[in-house]
Amino acid sequence: MAKGILLIVSGPAGSGKGTVVSKLISAHEEIALSVSATTRQPRPGEQNGVHYHFITKDDFEKRIKNGEILEYTTYCENYYGTPLKEVNEALLSGKDIILEIEVDGAMQVKKKLPEAVTVMLTPPDKETLENRLRSRGTETDEVIAWRLERAKEEIALMPEYDYSVVNEDGRADECADLIYSILRAEHQKTAYTKDIIKKFI
Ligand code: 5GP
Repeated sequence: MAKGILLIVSGPAGSGKGTVVSKLISAHEEIALSVSATTRQPRPGEQNGVHYHFITKDDFEKRIKNGEILEYTTYCENYYGTPLKEVNEALLSGKDIILEIEVDGAMQVKKKLPEAVTVMLTPPDKETLENRLRSRGTETDEVIAWRLERAKEEIALMPEYDYSVVNEDGRADECADLIYSILRAEHQKTAYTKDIIKKFI
């Protein structure tokens, strides 16, 4: 059976990656979404096992030691990481799987699994990013300034990614379609299709 593709989607806060990824997943139920483990507290409405596996710091560190985590990072003083088992199971059963993770983790995966496909989603410009962050209305000026700085650092790493997609306001559906097209094109790479040769021999 053909192996699935591991697709990484990164993008700074305000890039709209959560919306784009959930549109992609709901339009294409055959694609799996990796559920990360984190030590941060659940936000209102977040469910354990659906949005994240919410675990303790001790548990997270035990999983790192046991080699159960494909990649991990610390963000705002919390651990975030991808459980290896879920990813392996999806890929071996021929299913594509999406990891919605930040740049540090994305680079770790690319090093371990160079065949992983990386996409960076960005807002169109700094002003739009700032407007989006401010329109949430939940964060202080200090936090917004920190997020803008962090966004600049993340976007500067774009050349390390295979693809980039700009998310203009109101265009999340188009971005989801575009990322789906990337996935389809990747499946046509000869690394995945070369078995057809056997049918001619
Ligand atoms: P949030 O707390 O807003 O859900 O996530 C904060 C950041 O952590 C986001 O950029 C998100 O993509 C990233 N993130 C979530 N899960 C993982 C993970 O498993 N590994 C890494 N490296 N980053 C993650």
